[in-house]
Amino acid sequence: MKKTMSPTPASPRHLSCPPPASGGGVGEGVRPQTQSDIADFSEDYPRFTREMKDSYTILIPDMLPWHFELLIHVMAKEGYRLEALHNEGQEVIDEGLKHVHNDTCYPALCVIGQFLNALKSGKYDVDHTAVLITQSGGGCRASNYIPLIRKALRAEFPQVPVLSLNFAGLEKDSGIEVYPAFVLRLGYAIYYGDLIMSCYNQTKPYEIEAGSTDEVRERCIGEIKAAFDAGKHRKLKRNIYFILDAFAAVPVKREPKIKVGIVGEIYVKYSPFGNSHLEEFLLREGCEPVVPALMDFVLYCIINNVNDAKMYGKNRKSAFFFGIAYKYLYSIQKKILKWTARHGRFVPQHDFERLRTLADEVINQGVKMGEGWLIPAEMAALAETGAENIVCAQPFGCLPNHIAGKGAVRVIKGKYPSANIVPVDYDPSATKVNQENRIKLMLATARERMGE
Ligand code: SF4
Repeated sequence: MKKTMSPTPASPRHLSCPPPASGGGVGEGVRPQTQSDIADFSEDYPRFTREMKDSYTILIPDMLPWHFELLIHVMAKEGYRLEALHNEGQEVIDEGLKHVHNDTCYPALCVIGQFLNALKSGKYDVDHTAVLITQSGGGCRASNYIPLIRKALRAEFPQVPVLSLNFAGLEKDSGIEVYPAFVLRLGYAIYYGDLIMSCYNQTKPYEIEAGSTDEVRERCIGEIKAAFDAGKHRKLKRNIYFILDAFAAVPVKREPKIKVGIVGEIYVKYSPFGNSHLEEFLLREGCEPVVPALMDFVLYCIINNVNDAKMYGKNRKSAFFFGIAYKYLYSIQKKILKWTARHGRFVPQHDFERLRTLADEVINQGVKMGEGWLIPAEMAALAETGAENIVCAQPFGCLPNHIAGKGAVRVIKGKYPSANIVPVDYDPSATKVNQENRIKLMLATARERMGE
């Protein structure tokens, strides 16, 4: 039976701005806004309770398919039945546009479009389905995605609850019980996902037998899932060497290929739907994609909390705990980088402390809206590790990333004259052909230089 939402209007304290005066000027003839027009959905919505986790399917948007497979496995062990969505295409965009203004962030539009399109597909029992997104809790518009999703759901599926997975204390009633051992398991899943992604990208363009790298990736994902099942996910060295050895055993043809780094806003950087399958395009163009680790974004979010206390005098107690978490996670990253370097077959991913040093040379670590200082830091790290051809993927209208991404290109080129960077906008009206043509122009320069 369908649960219905009570149509209680939000209380006046939820009004974000006073209703416009009727009559006069621009507002002439326009119906004055009512309280419910501008409600912020901060109180009136269906909750996901812990008892619901056994009977509900939780949909999550498409982002990093292989990382998400591991994360979903970890969540399943906690009793949550998650499913990553892979629906895409114009109908998903159109669904998003029905509920999200096209001036709003493109990731919000994609995510909401995917949720609504999936719920309408008939594949799910909408009375036992919830949707989940992760939130970094920063000051950017992403922290408002939840009310946007609730607004869209209220219009079409008012019984569907929205969950938030975050470590910033947002949406405290969202029904996901977060505790240290569980968070740590998610952290391990991200580390393994990052290494699998990196080794895959360093092997796939050179494989002799088509599909052999994909087979190894499947095997590694299976092995890591089994390690989680057996409680051996903390046998870090064993699992890391398993992945390194498995990819190193793929027969490859060593030939020079253009390495192309991908940086930018987190969703369009990683999501194949959000970035029009950028990695696949680069592989088709005969390049090696170099995609920075997801864990770097996690560390970026954590260290920003520590910096907030130092720079802006924010909560010192929570900064202390974030500082401990940072040190622990960074120590794991150091080990993985050391073993990868010792193994010798693969280029290790970036060292996060090195990223911070590089950021300081270009921008202040106080610039942390959106992906902030992480973007120029990653561009610099890519340029100094041989991937000087870079796509900076940015949602159209995303102010922080245009400032810290596109806005930092001149400084990066000044420091690394061989850097060949192309900012590419992703938005509902951009065509894939246009995006690919911009990247092809960047690749033409890269090929010319390679020839020289
Ligand atoms: S980083 Fe850009 S796309 Fe992401 S929430 Fe902020 S403004 Fe929107």
